[in-house]
Amino acid sequence: MAGILYIVATPIGNLSDLSERVKDVLKSADLLLVEDTRVSAKLLNHLGIKKQLVSCHAHNEHERLAMLSEAAEKELTVALLSDAGTPLISDPGGELVSKAVELGFTVVPIAGPSAFLLALVGSGLPCDRFSFEGFLPDKPKDVRDVLISLVKETRTLVFYISPHKLERTLSEACALMGTRKACLARELTKMHEEFIRGTLEEIADKVRQSQTRGEYVLVVEGDRRSDSEDGDEDTLAAKEYEEYVRLRLEQGDRPSDVAQDAAKLFKRKRSDVYRLVVDFQKERQNRLGECDN
Ligand code: SAM
Repeated sequence: MAGILYIVATPIGNLSDLSERVKDVLKSADLLLVEDTRVSAKLLNHLGIKKQLVSCHAHNEHERLAMLSEAAEKELTVALLSDAGTPLISDPGGELVSKAVELGFTVVPIAGPSAFLLALVGSGLPCDRFSFEGFLPDKPKDVRDVLISLVKETRTLVFYISPHKLERTLSEACALMGTRKACLARELTKMHEEFIRGTLEEIADKVRQSQTRGEYVLVVEGDRRSDSEDGDEDTLAAKEYEEYVRLRLEQGDRPSDVAQDAAKLFKRKRSDVYRLVVDFQKERQNRLGECDN
């Protein structure tokens, strides 16, 4: 017998989302492991609970495993909280929960909000199958690589986006999937909650014009053309295929790799893709030539 580990989801902006169950768990826990003690202290103050908080974040989670082993020996009740939303979802806690399972803890998730789920269900896009992608990487080339790997994904895609990367991420996504339906969910559960819907290109335009601020989740329709016979859809597929080849070449990937990947992804003959690669390279050389003159 070990203890109990509660994984406690907390509000992402609206304190009315705090459930009675969350309050009871926080009152009864022997040990509170929290991402940022200052953030969770505010929540506990709001609930009138006075307890010592122990930090457990990305940089010390591993060290907290020893504490969990001690808690298991004493059969303590532990509660894990992140700053907002559900712990482990683009937040720390994965290592801790895995260790808790190994130690024999009873693991009890306490239901509450998670931004990706609210954005997905409010998006108007298919929710039957989706892929949560979390945050995209930092470097633009890595972002592009991830997006390229997702071009043919048929499930709805869900991304977390840091506010300062919003415009950049939208432009990258537009280059590969600009004609797809999407939804940018902003400030969920807060006073200025907003769902910006349209194609990715339309959303990127609106964001550029309005200079919106806040926290964002981007939901993008999956690839729908493979199962369609529609002529317009074929045009869109051709546009995405060409954009894909152009982007890969511009980022300096080897033409033979680009041709091989594009042929596989877009079901084209390798010789056709090579022809497009050669055309783009000629076009690029001409552009460079014009710049030199
Ligand atoms: N664990 C959290 C959850 O369950 O949603 C996510 C934590 S992650 C570090 C923070 C990201 O979640 C933000 O950058 C944003 O993309 C998204 N997010 C969190 N709160 C949000 C809100 N109120 N509205 C829109 N997006 C939000």
